[in-house]
Amino acid sequence: MRVSRSTSGERVASDVTAAAHYDTLALWGRPPDPANAERVARTQALVPLGTRTVLDVGCGDGSSSAALLDRVPVVVDLDLSPRALRFVAGVPVAGSITALPFPDRSFDVVLAAEVIEHLPADVMARALAEMGRVAGHWVIVSTPNGEQLAARQAACARCGRRFHPNWHQRRFTAARHRRLAPAGFEWRRTDGVGTWRQSLVLAAGRRAVGHLVQGDGLTCPHCGHGQVVRPAYNLGQRAGLRLLAMAGPLVRPRARWIVTAYARRGSA
Ligand SMILES: [Zn+2]
Repeated sequence: MRVSRSTSGERVASDVTAAAHYDTLALWGRPPDPANAERVARTQALVPLGTRTVLDVGCGDGSSSAALLDRVPVVVDLDLSPRALRFVAGVPVAGSITALPFPDRSFDVVLAAEVIEHLPADVMARALAEMGRVAGHWVIVSTPNGEQLAARQAACARCGRRFHPNWHQRRFTAARHRRLAPAGFEWRRTDGVGTWRQSLVLAAGRRAVGHLVQGDGLTCPHCGHGQVVRPAYNLGQRAGLRLLAMAGPLVRPRARWIVTAYARRGSA
């Protein structure tokens, strides 16, 4: 079992734990909410007209690429999770984003929608390299924008370590996206989609107060345990959390997601 390290040096999900987590049926097959539907539409708008082949890596249930089948003859959906692949509309392929089972430049467009924020740093680098290898013309990537990971943390009931409930590993910005172009590719554009409010100060406040996300179905990426700590907040903590909630609307809204297109140099 391989253990990866995030940029902060923390041990994070092993492949075995990650495969089990992402194979959770409850995650998949739900229609996207209106905000995510807008994200999907804006992502698909970056797939050029005339595209013949698209690979959607880390596709989950395929909701980010299904509608492309109206105008793209071949959509291949690749994911670690066989259960998620039951829902895809394209050609399902079970596999890892770090070892794509395709020859170089097999697809006009390779898409990773809401995937790379889940990957430890070394895995993300390999994934982007693989996407660039199999993409003929375009690589399209979307992530949350400016997410303050400290604002949403759960604590494992077994090992006590903290983690983001969606296993997000790092924060992305438009400037960061510009630097992610795979070898042989260049940044072309980044679009912001939707809105949310993210604040470093409020995130630090929630952390200081001891706020913990609760919920069922959260899996610890460090040890694989499926129960999180359910905190009993004291009066001081409750007052602090109320103040932070009141301050939330004062934070300037920003785009919730960023979607970026990279073009192969000398192409398109
Ligand atoms: Zn744990």
